[in-house]
Amino acid sequence: MGKLTYIICGKLYDGIDRELKDNQKILIEDDRIVEVGPEVQQPESAQVIDLSDTTVTPGMIDAHMHMDNIDWHTIRQEVYYTSEEHKALGILRTAQKALSRGFTTVRHPGGITSNGFGVLDVRDMINQGYFSGSRIVAAARLICTAGSHGDLSQTFARRPEFSFAVQNMISSLGAGKDFFANAVREEIKAGSDFIKIMATGGFFTPYDNPRQQQMNDEEMEAVIRTAHEWGKTVTAHVYSPDHIRKLVGFGIDGLEHCSLLDEETAQIVEEAGAYIVPTFCPYEEAVHYDPVKIQTKQPEFRAKLEYYKDALQAGREVIKNCKCKLGYGTDQVATHQNYESGYEYKAWLESGMDPFRALEAATRINAEILQLDDRIGTIEKGKLADISAWKRDLMTDPKALLDCAFVMKEGVVYPTERCEDMDEDA
Ligand SMILES: [Zn+2]
Repeated sequence: MGKLTYIICGKLYDGIDRELKDNQKILIEDDRIVEVGPEVQQPESAQVIDLSDTTVTPGMIDAHMHMDNIDWHTIRQEVYYTSEEHKALGILRTAQKALSRGFTTVRHPGGITSNGFGVLDVRDMINQGYFSGSRIVAAARLICTAGSHGDLSQTFARRPEFSFAVQNMISSLGAGKDFFANAVREEIKAGSDFIKIMATGGFFTPYDNPRQQQMNDEEMEAVIRTAHEWGKTVTAHVYSPDHIRKLVGFGIDGLEHCSLLDEETAQIVEEAGAYIVPTFCPYEEAVHYDPVKIQTKQPEFRAKLEYYKDALQAGREVIKNCKCKLGYGTDQVATHQNYESGYEYKAWLESGMDPFRALEAATRINAEILQLDDRIGTIEKGKLADISAWKRDLMTDPKALLDCAFVMKEGVVYPTERCEDMDEDA
């Protein structure tokens, strides 16, 4: 018999039932959960962890986190002035921070500034036990076109001697269906877990917009077909209903953001069984309009948030009321910035979402999206012992997921850290 751990829960959300259960115990042997329930006996040899003053949940999962930058305020400098090695260290730091905040797994849908495969090395080194940190599921590179939301050289587009040189250094940027089919094969060759495409424009970049289609139909279709031939899923950065319908028609697995969704399109997504990771965090200042906080955003981002404010508010209502499979992701772009993984919970609750829908998204549904649902996402017999616990009331406190009281990954307990910018009324 291996090492036994016996956890006494205050309340338990197990990722399966929409309730907080009283009087639950969890028995763990090494890295696995062997028993859960009110009747579980405490073996004499077990280490006892008393979490009776907390709510215990599965380890949380952030399904949309660009891990490669250290500081949100200096991200534009980090793009060009730091090495790929620096970026890999940024990724490691982000994985350590996420774990200490109760997020035991994170999904990296392409590097914002890294253009290499460092995230895959960090993923593997954490799995091999050389470093502690959240489990990483990654698409290393953003597959995209020139001038797209993935092409950060658009910042200096009018200095072509620089801009074209940088553009040509982005190995996942190109044109034509053959280029994109091959980019998918290269991505899988390097060891990415899934494929991420910048199918359409976005908010953060200066010279494109979220209603713009950037990869053409043939290119999108080539990516999705090739990935499926190779047994990988594809998710797309996308906002507007016409593009969402197109991608669903090509058989895409997932859709990130979808912030301008309409009801008719939501129905189509639901029927197709594709998932949406709606990433509320970046649009909060527009959706819950805050004229002061919005000033802290970069000028071009702020201008687009203002311009699309009404559409973003309408889209949020559609997402809230839809029956699509929703995942939980922040779209965090740096380790230190104005939101952390737990802030998405606040955004969901303040948008009027049922807290159980948010908890399900961050646990069981995200595990399905990451294709790890046979191992994580719920607290039940046979699953890995990824367990978090929270002091605050998950049903009523929007900041509950910012204040982690306990975290265990694969049966090992790690130190926790409260979110540093838990402000004013904390
Ligand atoms: Zn993103």
